[in-house]
Amino acid sequence: MSKGNVSKIDNLGRVVIPKSIRKALNIEHNDEISMYVDGESLIIKKGYRACSLCVSKKIKHQIGTKFICNDCVENIKNL
Ligand SMILES: [Zn+2]
Repeated sequence: MSKGNVSKIDNLGRVVIPKSIRKALNIEHNDEISMYVDGESLIIKKGYRACSLCVSKKIKHQIGTKFICNDCVENIKNL
Protein backbone atom coordinates (compact mmCIF):
# COMPACT_ATOMS: atom_id res chain seq x y z
CA MET A 1 0.00 0.00 0.00
CA SER A 2 1.31 3.44 -0.93
CA LYS A 3 2.12 5.86 1.87
CA GLY A 4 0.28 8.53 -0.11
CA ASN A 5 0.20 12.25 0.54
CA VAL A 6 -0.40 13.71 3.99
CA SER A 7 -2.17 17.05 4.35
CA LYS A 8 -3.51 18.93 7.36
CA ILE A 9 -7.02 20.32 7.53
CA ASP A 10 -7.06 24.03 8.41
CA ASN A 11 -9.33 25.70 10.98
CA LEU A 12 -12.06 26.19 8.34
CA GLY A 13 -12.05 22.50 7.35
CA ARG A 14 -10.14 23.06 4.10
CA VAL A 15 -7.47 20.77 2.74
CA VAL A 16 -5.18 21.23 -0.26
CA ILE A 17 -5.22 18.52 -2.91
CA PRO A 18 -1.53 18.06 -3.73
CA LYS A 19 -0.42 19.34 -7.12
CA SER A 20 0.76 15.87 -8.19
CA ILE A 21 -2.75 14.47 -7.62
CA ARG A 22 -4.46 17.43 -9.34
CA LYS A 23 -2.14 16.96 -12.30
CA ALA A 24 -2.71 13.18 -12.44
CA LEU A 25 -6.51 13.66 -12.46
CA ASN A 26 -6.44 16.82 -14.61
CA ILE A 27 -8.19 18.83 -11.86
CA GLU A 28 -8.05 22.56 -12.49
CA HIS A 29 -9.13 25.76 -10.74
CA ASN A 30 -12.94 25.94 -10.33
CA ASP A 31 -13.49 22.29 -11.32
CA GLU A 32 -16.23 20.60 -9.31
CA ILE A 33 -15.37 17.72 -7.01
CA SER A 34 -17.66 15.52 -4.97
CA MET A 35 -16.98 13.99 -1.58
CA TYR A 36 -18.61 11.16 0.27
CA VAL A 37 -17.92 8.70 3.04
CA ASP A 38 -17.31 5.03 2.31
CA GLY A 39 -16.85 3.18 5.59
CA GLU A 40 -14.00 5.01 7.31
CA SER A 41 -12.68 6.58 4.11
CA LEU A 42 -13.32 9.99 2.61
CA ILE A 43 -13.67 9.62 -1.15
CA ILE A 44 -13.04 12.68 -3.32
CA LYS A 45 -13.96 12.39 -6.99
CA LYS A 46 -13.56 14.80 -9.86
CA GLY A 47 -16.88 16.08 -11.09
CA TYR A 48 -20.25 16.29 -9.46
CA ARG A 49 -22.19 13.49 -7.83
CA ALA A 50 -24.42 11.98 -10.47
CA CYS A 51 -26.68 8.99 -10.85
CA SER A 52 -24.65 6.01 -12.05
CA LEU A 53 -27.45 5.06 -14.47
CA CYS A 54 -28.67 8.34 -16.00
CA VAL A 55 -26.25 11.08 -14.76
CA SER A 56 -29.04 13.04 -13.02
CA LYS A 57 -27.74 15.26 -10.21
CA LYS A 58 -30.86 14.56 -8.11
CA ILE A 59 -29.28 11.82 -5.99
CA LYS A 60 -31.47 10.15 -3.39
CA HIS A 61 -29.79 6.80 -2.79
CA GLN A 62 -26.27 5.51 -2.30
CA ILE A 63 -25.30 1.87 -2.72
CA GLY A 64 -21.66 1.41 -1.77
CA THR A 65 -19.77 3.94 -3.86
CA LYS A 66 -22.57 4.36 -6.45
CA PHE A 67 -25.35 6.94 -6.47
CA ILE A 68 -28.82 6.42 -7.92
CA CYS A 69 -31.61 8.94 -8.48
CA ASN A 70 -35.25 8.38 -7.51
CA ASP A 71 -36.37 8.04 -11.13
CA CYS A 72 -33.95 5.16 -11.74
CA VAL A 73 -34.97 3.47 -8.46
CA GLU A 74 -38.62 3.64 -9.59
CA ASN A 75 -37.68 2.29 -13.04
CA ILE A 76 -35.83 -0.63 -11.42
CA LYS A 77 -38.82 -1.37 -9.18
CA ASN A 78 -41.01 -1.64 -12.28
CA LEU A 79 -38.79 -4.15 -14.10
ZN1 LIG B 1 -30.87 7.99 -12.55
